[in-house]
Parts: sequence; structure tokens; C-alpha cells
Amino acid sequence: MIPAQFEYVRPSSLVDAVRALADGGEDAKVIAGGQSLLPLLRLRLAYPDLLVDVGGLDELRGVTDAGDQLLIGAGTTHYQLVHDPLIGQHCGLLAQAAGTVADPAVRHRGTLGGSIAHGDPAGDLPAVVLAIDATMIARGPGGDREIAASDFFVDYLTTALTPGEVLTGIRVPKLDGGWGYRYEKFHRTAQAWATVGVAALVRRSNGEVAEARVGLTNMGSVRIRAAAVEAAVAGAQASAGALRAAAAVADEGTNPPADLHGAPDYRRHLARVLTGRALEAAAGV
Ligand SMILES: Cc1cc2nc3c(=O)[nH]c(=O)nc-3n(C[C@H](O)[C@H](O)[C@H](O)COP(=O)(O)OP(=O)(O)OC[C@H]3O[C@@H](n4cnc5c(N)ncnc54)[C@H](O)[C@@H]3O)c2cc1C
Repeated sequence: MIPAQFEYVRPSSLVDAVRALADGGEDAKVIAGGQSLLPLLRLRLAYPDLLVDVGGLDELRGVTDAGDQLLIGAGTTHYQLVHDPLIGQHCGLLAQAAGTVADPAVRHRGTLGGSIAHGDPAGDLPAVVLAIDATMIARGPGGDREIAASDFFVDYLTTALTPGEVLTGIRVPKLDGGWGYRYEKFHRTAQAWATVGVAALVRRSNGEVAEARVGLTNMGSVRIRAAAVEAAVAGAQASAGALRAAAAVADEGTNPPADLHGAPDYRRHLARVLTGRALEAAAGV
């Protein structure tokens, strides 16, 4: 289908982008790589009056070393996430998950910020952002504001961003000092969208799991941390048996969707199995 008519601006600075959004009011929308928004426009599931294209803003791209954190620009593409040396060194989980998104063409255009701001429960990167306790940075007419990942994903395709705000970047704590990681994803062969995905981080100490964090993809209308698993695994032996036993509660507190790709019970089963695998791989057992 052909999208409904809209105005289009391509500002040359973030300041101009924020101003254009404010001028456009509630019917203005940011577009970055267009990999999620363009399909919605073509299906007329979204029909903004104005598109503010931030895809050309260099100031939104790239990765900066900020001491014990990395600052990742919202306009950084999936391809860049996969190949950036700082991310590879300090936040390999993000690189690994970004490498599972779609195909090379989509990974070259789609952005971290777009994946997060879109708030799709089936998107891979939000589960990672939750597991690593990232912080989102948003710029609006009133200046910058920071939003914890745990407060960011509000509902299906709904985030804490307000209509006038641009997501400019995310802060990611460096995961040094004994953290292992794994993104496990089950998807149909024909397309990469996750039926279920699991982002796991495990910190080992003296043969035990000192701390684990688990984010789930597509197990509810909103992003979920598998809190029951995290509690069950903390202090447990870093053995395959103990980790698989903890994974048995991975679906606790979830509300998985029913669609063409799987019934809720099937997704619950997948969540338990994938969580076990992800924990084992992250713990290196
Ligand atoms: C064929 C295909 C397969 C795909 N497979 C997968 C997959 O396997 N896994 C997966 O996770 N995703 C998948 N996707 C989705 C896609 O990769 C991401 O959702 C996409 O990369 C989002 O980034 P974008 O820059 O293209 O966002 P856009 O499409 O430009 O925008 C998406 C939404 O985010 C908002 N937005 C974008 N940037 C900002 C910003 N800086 N500040 C505020 N709001 C912003 C827009 O207003 C819009 O609402 C697939 C897409 C396609 C077309």
C-alpha cells in the first residue's frame, strides 16, 4: 500500500530536529533507519503528518568510552553494533543480539535507537538493554532526561518517550570482571523475528553464580526480566543441572502472545529451554 500523505524534513542538527518535532506537535514522528516505521506507514497503521528524519545526524552515531560506561548513539546501526571494538570488548551481549536481527540489509539501515523507541515485544535489543541495566537518554524541548531501562518499556509499541523527544543514546555499564553472556533466540527459518528470545548475563565467582540477569523477548506486551530465575540462580552452583533447574521458572510472571508462530504454552516451554541454554552458555558450563 501507499502511505498516507506526510510532510518530511531532514534537519542537519539535533537542535533543529527537536525544534521540528516540537513544531509538528503530536502528529510528528521521528524516522531513523525506517525499517520498522516504513512498513507501518505503508500498511497505514501509522499516519503522521510530519516525519523528522534523524538518519543523517552524525552526532547520534557511534560509541564513546565514558569510564565505567559506554555511551552508544541512538543512530548507531545494528551492523555497527556487531563490529564496534568497544562494544565487542565491554558489552558483547549487545553485539551478539544485534547480529541476530533480520538480515544484512536491515542491519545496515536499522538503528539501536529505532529498535528501542519502537517498543516492539518481538524486537531483540530491548531484552538486552533490560538485562544490562542500560539508561536511555532523551532530548526534548526542555533538555535532556535519563530513563532507566526498567521504566522505559511501558506497553505494546509504547515507551516512556513523549511525542516531542528524540532518543539520543543509551548508557551501558561496561560488563567487565567475570561476566559471561549469551543471547538465545528461536525463530522460523524464513525470517529472523524471535518467537522467543533470552538475553542472559552471568557473573561467576568461586564456582558459584554470584549474579545473573535475564531479559526475555516476546513473552508479553512489554519487556520482562525473568526475576524468578535471577533469584533462583543467585548463589547456586555454576553447574548445568543447577542452571537448568533455575530456568524452570523462566515463564513465571510472563504473558506470552498467541499468534501464527506459537501458542502461549509453546512460548512458555521455549522460554524455559532457551533460558537454560543461555544460562549455561553465559556461565561457560
Ligand atoms: C524484514 C525485516 C526483518 C526484521 N527482523 C527483525 C528481527 O529479527 N529482530 C528485531 O529486533 N527487529 C527486526 N526488524 C525490525 C528492525 O530491524 C528494527 O525495528 C529497526 O532496526 C528499528 O530501527 P530503525 O532505525 O529502522 O527505526 P525506524 O523504523 O526509523 O523507527 C522505528 C520507531 O522508532 C522511532 N524512532 C526511531 N529513532 C528514534 C529516535 N532516535 N528517537 C525517538 N524515536 C525514534 C520512530 O518514530 C518509530 O516509531 C526487522 C525489520 C524488517 C524490515
